[in-house]
This record gives sequence, structure tokens and C-alpha cells, in this order.
Amino acid sequence: MNVHESEKIAGMLTELGYQSCSAVEEADIIVFNTCCIRDTAEKHILGNIGDVKHLKKENPFLIVAVVGCMTQQKGMSENLKKKFPFVSIVLGTDNLSDLTLAVRQIEEKNKKFFSCIHDTPDVDVQKDSPLYRTSGTNAWVNIMYGCNNFCTYCIVPYVRGRERSRSPQAVLSEVSDLLKQGYPEITLLGQNVDSYSYEGHDFTYLLEKIAEMDSKFRLRFMTSHPKDFNSRVIDVIASCPNICNNIHLPVQSGSNRVLKLMNRHYTRERYLEIIDEIRSKIPNVGITSDIMTGFPTETDEDFYDTVSLMEKVRFSNAFTFVYSPRKGTVAAQMEQLPKKVKQERITELVKIQNRISAEISKDYLGRTEEILVEDVSPKHQNSVCGRTESGRLVTFAGAPELVGKFVNVKIDSARSSALFGRII
Ligand code: SF4
Repeated sequence: MNVHESEKIAGMLTELGYQSCSAVEEADIIVFNTCCIRDTAEKHILGNIGDVKHLKKENPFLIVAVVGCMTQQKGMSENLKKKFPFVSIVLGTDNLSDLTLAVRQIEEKNKKFFSCIHDTPDVDVQKDSPLYRTSGTNAWVNIMYGCNNFCTYCIVPYVRGRERSRSPQAVLSEVSDLLKQGYPEITLLGQNVDSYSYEGHDFTYLLEKIAEMDSKFRLRFMTSHPKDFNSRVIDVIASCPNICNNIHLPVQSGSNRVLKLMNRHYTRERYLEIIDEIRSKIPNVGITSDIMTGFPTETDEDFYDTVSLMEKVRFSNAFTFVYSPRKGTVAAQMEQLPKKVKQERITELVKIQNRISAEISKDYLGRTEEILVEDVSPKHQNSVCGRTESGRLVTFAGAPELVGKFVNVKIDSARSSALFGRII
């Protein structure tokens, strides 16, 4: 989501005549696109903003802007203005398209400070924002904004507002343009894509309409919520060859007690039922997840419920992380676990997931997989890398001209979750 928002920022700045530069010291404008999902991310960004203070002294015309979900927190705009007087623009997530106006007001009207943060959601923040796509072979497309779920650990509904879906016409026309431009992969974005809803049209309507636009491209989406992920979505994925057999379904915990405290609205049993249905209908599917440990009051028993769920599901990959309290959320007021306990548990989760990912990698040995070549390999000479439809990264010998093309690769070796092969 943030990467795609950075593309919108870059698009607006490019239209204003700015170009990207390689060193921050050379910049005439610096935009901090913030994220406040984790406390550490917020501390980090505040440190980074402080680090550019001296640049403003050296270049009084430098424009420093802070945008993104951190600014949506109550009182944050005033705090930023007080703490960092050299910041001249503060914009909320729904006001990103005001960046052009803000920069013009500062450049042409000599305005010192421009701040715009709305509680009222914009219908479609993208409507006036040009895009400067930086994601290579993949194009991100927002289908909805905000979230209604209020998981007790999460700040997103407070800073990004309630759910609102873009019209199917807007989404389909953007995807159609991208396919005409030759993008081989489209990823639909939303905090909870399964609850997409617009005048009677649901997420499966979008999936089917997009899937029938062209036969040779890959369609991915993120993120799904187990409470809304249903048989209709599974059936559509199973029946449309260009929708990838790769599903990211965050489970967060394997303990029913903790899931209830998290306000997730599904049980461990329901989650496992969904996984069984996915596996029975979609061959060779890659299932990934987000798994949290250290949620307030999590006992050893709760933790081992999570471990046993991981062992049962065998995620091809999982983003494992430690719970950290976010001010203003319900869980931040609950009894917190000691840091040491959280640390021990996350170490164990990482170890388990690494083992499972490595074991699953071995299943790919000898297989021939269709790979969409995404980039030149950053680590291996004269090589390129790309993903299987199920989402596994594969590196193999090849020329840079292959980027953006589909090739068949035989998988010869596996190292942890990384796969290596050769074009056949
Ligand atoms: S579904 Fe839960 S975790 Fe995801 S964005 Fe919404 S509140 Fe946050």
C-alpha cells in the first residue's frame, strides 16, 4: 500500500517538474511517506525527519513534506509543526492528491506551512493523482481504502478510515490501460479485498471481469481476511488460469482465546477449514500468512496453538512478528508480556517457519515452473530472477532482456526458501 502511494507521490512531483535524485543532499523536495502500523516504524521515521534539519539550513528553498498514515493520528500535525519547524507540508492519507497544490502554494505563493488532514474519506484519492510506477513488471491497483474490522492491535481503521470501494468501472478501466501498456502482472490492493463492495458488485465480480480481459498476464491480490474469504473466491481462483495460485491469508494466532481478544471473528477450526478447501480446489497453491506472537496475555498454551497451526498448515512463507502496542488501540490497554518472553517466542516461530519453507522448497526440485522474470539478480552474475505462480522466488542464468517475459524454468536446487534453476 505504501509503495503504491509513493508511486502517486512520485507521479505528482514528476508532473511538477521534479526528478528523482540519488542523494538526499541534492534534493529540492523531500517527502516522508510514513507508516504508523508499528511503533518502531514511527520512531524510525521521526528520527529520519530530524536528520534532514541541517539540509534545510543549507538550502532554505528545500521543501520537506510528511504524508501517510502517521499524520492521521490525533494531534500529529501540530506535533510535527512544533517539533520540526522546517517541515512545510503535512498531508493525511486521504489528502495525498493535495500534494501538487501544497507544493505550488509554497513555491509560488511563498506559503510557509500547508497542512490538510480530513476525517471524511475521499471517494477515490487516485482520481487526480498521476502515477509514476516504480514496481517493474508488477502494477499495483487500489480497489478499496480503509478498514472496518478494528482488530484490537491495529491502528489502520483509526488512521485510514472506514472501508470505501472504488467503482468497478474505475478499477477495470485502470487495469485495462495497464494491460494495454504491457504490464504482465497486476496486484489488486486493499486492507481487506474480500469485503470489496460497490453497488451490489463483490470481489469475485472484479476478479472474473479482470481475468477475462486478457489471457496472458498474472493477477494477484492482497490482503485477504479469513472472516470474509469464502468458497466463491476460491472457486474463481480455481477456474481462472491467470489468477495466481498464491493466497496470502493472515492468521495472526492459532489460539481461539487470542483470536477472540484480537477481535478477528474466526476460529482456528474455521481457518483450517478454509485451508482444506483451498488445497482441495487449487493445485500446488502457495499459502502465505502473517503470524504474531506476544499478544497481551498470550500464554504458553496459546503460543503452542500457533505453533501447531503452523505445522498443520505448512505455510510456504510467513511474515512472523512480535506484537507491539499502538497507542489508541484496545490491546495497548491490556496486560503486556515481558520483552524476554516475546523474544523467545518469535525466535522459535522464525526457526519453525524457516524449516517449513526450506522443506517446501524441496518439493519444487525437478519441477518445471513458468516464471515471470522480474529483475536482474542482485546477487548472482549474468542471472535474472522471478516468481513461480505460487509466489516462490527463482534465480537462473539469463539476460536482462528477459525481464517482463514468461519463461519455463526447471528447478535444480533449493536453498532455504530460495530456488535456483535453468531455462528449458
Ligand atoms: S483487518 Fe484488522 S489487521 Fe487488517 S487492517 Fe483491518 S484492523 Fe488492521
